[in-house]
Amino acid sequence: MKNFQFYNPVRILFGKGQIASVTQQIPVGAKVLVTYGGGSIRHNGVYDQVKAALQGFTTVEFGGIEANPHYETLMRAVALARTEQIDFILAVGGGSVLDGTKFIAAAIPFAGEDPWDILSRKAKIASAVPFGAVLTLPATGSEMNSGSVITRVSTQEKLAFSSPLTFPKFSVLDPETCFTLPPRQIANGIADAFTHVLEQYLTYSINTPLQDRLAEAVLLTLLEEGPKVLANPTDYDAMANFMWSATNALNGTLAAGVITDWSTHYVAHELTALHGIDHARTLAIVLPAMLRYRRAGKLQKLVQYGQRVWNITTGTDEERAEAAVQATVRFFESLDIKTRLSDYEVGPDTIQHIVQRFTERGVKNLGERADLQIADIEKILTLSL
Ligand code: NAP
Ligand code: FE
Repeated sequence: MKNFQFYNPVRILFGKGQIASVTQQIPVGAKVLVTYGGGSIRHNGVYDQVKAALQGFTTVEFGGIEANPHYETLMRAVALARTEQIDFILAVGGGSVLDGTKFIAAAIPFAGEDPWDILSRKAKIASAVPFGAVLTLPATGSEMNSGSVITRVSTQEKLAFSSPLTFPKFSVLDPETCFTLPPRQIANGIADAFTHVLEQYLTYSINTPLQDRLAEAVLLTLLEEGPKVLANPTDYDAMANFMWSATNALNGTLAAGVITDWSTHYVAHELTALHGIDHARTLAIVLPAMLRYRRAGKLQKLVQYGQRVWNITTGTDEERAEAAVQATVRFFESLDIKTRLSDYEVGPDTIQHIVQRFTERGVKNLGERADLQIADIEKILTLSL
């Protein structure tokens, strides 16, 4: 096992009716900026519950944070927050609102010239405005991690940052807030969470049986509960199990002491930046080709994944690894998620565009062995055409 530090300070308030308890989590007298997305919370009663819970506080609102939150939009929230001198932020929505709020929280006190440097130059954050979250979409794990992914429209860039200062102080996970999710977002959530686990699990073995089994537990639970949620989004227990699985997929526990990959996410972000394809759908395109291209380096784990998650027990190791990839592809497709670039009418010109951008950015040494170069990424994307 690798040496590790584990730190996760996020208080989780899980279950029915928990939005009301945010009152006890926000400092008395705080001026609260409430951030949200395009309006789903106004249609499903979540907005009203939040307003009721915040009755004793002075609030300012900033709505309109879009999917794959835009730096341009978020900077308007930063300006508002600075003018209003807010003390606390409450993010209400899916991963985009939460990620966007992390950036707002870090950008408000940012002393440098342009907060975009937090993303593009990994500029250090000295402080951040404290924030909490009400999650309405199980998918990203953003409710219990410190990561954030932001898109800059003007340059078509999608970049990530994280900081110990951008963990939410608390997150409310009330499965009932997710009952209004459309099938596309449920499917996206399942696929994103599933891929988060695989990015931390399908690397190479360094004898971490507990982390392996924790990862397999999350995968198996997603496989069982995901389809139930899709079939009946108001099934409370199925939604609760899905929600907690998605949180556990990316709250740091699975990554403790293991070797992680994350190259699928890194490459897939480019497809969202350039073509606006939903995050989870870009993962489903890149992941199968990534696993096939790098099969030799991941062989032992692919075989274990095939056996323990998909019950694949016959064939050579190579055949079993390929069968595991095929099972993963079938699973994505069962969620009505397409797995090829051509399904989205994306062709070789986009691959060249990504190669050019990675060259400009000096991208090198991706993946768990730090051996993945731009030429490999070109081949992997070509495999996914
Ligand atoms: P999202 O972009 O937050 O939301 C997608 C859509 O779902 C929005 O149109 C939203 O509508 C709607 N929605 C949310 N909750 C709803 C509800 N309860 N009922 C009905 N509609 C609802 O989706 P996401 O998958 O959670 O987040 C994706 C983003 O997270 C991407 O930018 C991705 O790169 C990032 N990400 C972050 C991490 C991390 O660790 N931080 C990990 C993976 C991905 P409204 O706008 O109207 O609310
Ligand atoms: Fe993701």
